[in-house]
Amino acid sequence: MAALGRQTGDLVESPRAQVRVLGHDVLALAAFTLFVFTVAAGRLWCGFACPQTVWTLCYVWIERKIEGGRYQRIKLDQAPWSPVKLGKKGFKYLCWAVLALSISITSVGYFTPIAVLLREIAELSVGNRESFAILSLAGASFLFSGVLREQVCLHMCPYARFQSVMFDRDTLIVSYDARRGEPRGGRSRRVDPGARGLGACVDCGLCVRACPTGIDIREGLQYECITCAACVDVCNGVMKTMGYAPDLIRFSSENQDEGVPKPKTHFRLWSYGAVLLAMLGVLTFDLATRVPLGLDIIRDRGRLYRESWDGSVENTYTLRIMNMEQGSRRYAIRAEGEVPLQFSGDREVEIAGGSQVSIPISLMTAPGVQAASNSDVYFTVESVSDPVHTITETSRFLRPAEAGPDSGASAHE
Ligand code: SF4
Ligand code: SF4
Repeated sequence: MAALGRQTGDLVESPRAQVRVLGHDVLALAAFTLFVFTVAAGRLWCGFACPQTVWTLCYVWIERKIEGGRYQRIKLDQAPWSPVKLGKKGFKYLCWAVLALSISITSVGYFTPIAVLLREIAELSVGNRESFAILSLAGASFLFSGVLREQVCLHMCPYARFQSVMFDRDTLIVSYDARRGEPRGGRSRRVDPGARGLGACVDCGLCVRACPTGIDIREGLQYECITCAACVDVCNGVMKTMGYAPDLIRFSSENQDEGVPKPKTHFRLWSYGAVLLAMLGVLTFDLATRVPLGLDIIRDRGRLYRESWDGSVENTYTLRIMNMEQGSRRYAIRAEGEVPLQFSGDREVEIAGGSQVSIPISLMTAPGVQAASNSDVYFTVESVSDPVHTITETSRFLRPAEAGPDSGASAHE
């Protein structure tokens, strides 16, 4: 069989199986990419790529623009309700709602053409499925990123819980240089900390206030730290104001903090990297050998077989053929059974790109042919212009048990 693709016995894997295999490859690849980046550089995903973090920053930015900085927000929250407070809170929630809707409409636009979706929204004629998806996604974004924020990272996200399994002493983390910072204590810029027996930390508390998960990084590595580096930036600002060297809080590893030299080989990192490369190879192979053609065979459920007066037996099927390419293609159809079968139906079909057609086919044995009551039949669909685009699927050919030597077999599925 001139087939390009992974084969099971004589059969090319079905498109659903191919998509499933590709899905597994992509998931495994994503998992190992996460492992490699986590071992090498800590929770980069959480701090810089996770949609929850990115969207939370957008919601916080809106809040800061409308309600002001941390102290102004606390003051506003504690103040009694007034037209000013009502106006600020109402405007904030309105802006949040617009942001949430824009996020959800963009997301749904990946599955429904965005131009069509926007026109339907403008005409208030959005379908039920899209309406449900838009409203539920917008609600989730508003609730998780706007209202709950870091609570999602702390109490709902499973990744925070198993990150420690991936960390080792050479993993890059955000850490506080306690040897340089302690003993901490307030002082004026003119005071020499050495003369007062103080470290570089002025105990201003800005790193704690800047932290989206509300932790104090000076207490050491904590699972709540999402490596966003907000504390690094704010502390560097303090160091600059005080005229001290930067990087009291910085990216480093536990070994680096303790002055242990960096190992020449980072075994865990190289192991994950090797598996990642292997997964990439497997994904590339699966993509290269994918057959962009699908075939489903549906037997006539109403009648298992039809027997003629001369002893011939007929089975009917519907072939659903999917062209998963961009352009249209012409396909030839053939069927082979364990006994010779007469083919009745279209032998060729033209299918537009990205669409499918259903073709009724019937197969018939010649009169007097002896065969099993239940035997395999193979349908092959092959591109006329490019025979490597071929797919074969199997089905059953049924006949009355008493008509063949295999009289014990049932004619019913
Ligand atoms: S921002 Fe820097 S100086 Fe201020 S408390 Fe935090 S570590 Fe100390
Ligand atoms: S400790 Fe620093 S890096 Fe970690 S989450 Fe808080 S601000 Fe971000």
